[in-house]
Amino acid sequence: MNRKSSGTEIERLIALLARLPGLGHRSARKAALTLLKRRADLLEPLAAALSEAAAKIVECQTCGNIDTVTPCTICQDPRRDQALIVVVEEIGDLWALERAGVVGALYHVLGGHLSPLDGIGPDRLNIARLVERAVPPVKEVLLALNATVEGQSTAHYITEQLQGGGIAVTRLAQGVPIGGELDYLDEGTLAAAIKSRRAM
Ligand SMILES: [Zn+2]
Repeated sequence: MNRKSSGTEIERLIALLARLPGLGHRSARKAALTLLKRRADLLEPLAAALSEAAAKIVECQTCGNIDTVTPCTICQDPRRDQALIVVVEEIGDLWALERAGVVGALYHVLGGHLSPLDGIGPDRLNIARLVERAVPPVKEVLLALNATVEGQSTAHYITEQLQGGGIAVTRLAQGVPIGGELDYLDEGTLAAAIKSRRAM
C-alpha cells in the first residue's frame, strides 16, 4: 500500500508545479513548501495574480501576442512602424525583442514552426492571418525565425505564400541564433542582426 505523507491538495499543488518548464518533482516540492510557509506574502498574492491572469489575458486576434486587450497594446500603438511586421515563432521571442528595444515595429507570432513529423502543418500555425495582414501600409515582412531546419523551412513556406503580393520578405543576418536563444543575445547583437537583414 502506498503511504502518503501529505494531503491531496498539497500533492495536487506539487503535481501542477512539476508541469512547469524547468521544474521537476523535487523542485516542485521545494516551491510548494516555500509557498505554503509564506502564505500571506507569496501564496495568496500568487494565487490572486494567477486567477486574474486566467480571467483577463487573451490572445490578440491580429498578431497572436497575449495581452488584456485585443488587438493588443503593440498592435494599437500608432508610434510603431506600420510598414514592418516582424514574424517570430513564440511569444517569448517577441518579449526578448521588446526587452532589447530594437524593433519598434509590429509583430506576428506563429505559435511554433512547421514540423511534418509531429503533424504540425501550415494550418496549425498563425500563417493565414499573416498573409491577410501583408498588405499596404505594410511594405516588409521580416522573418525572425529559429536558425533550425524547421525554422528555415517555415521561413521558406511563408516566403512562398507572400510571393507576388509586392511585399519585401527578409530574414535576419545569418549565424544569429534566434528563438529559444534570443534571450541570451545582447541588445547590440540583436540590433546588428536586424540592421543587416537580407532578402529571402
Ligand atoms: Zn497584437
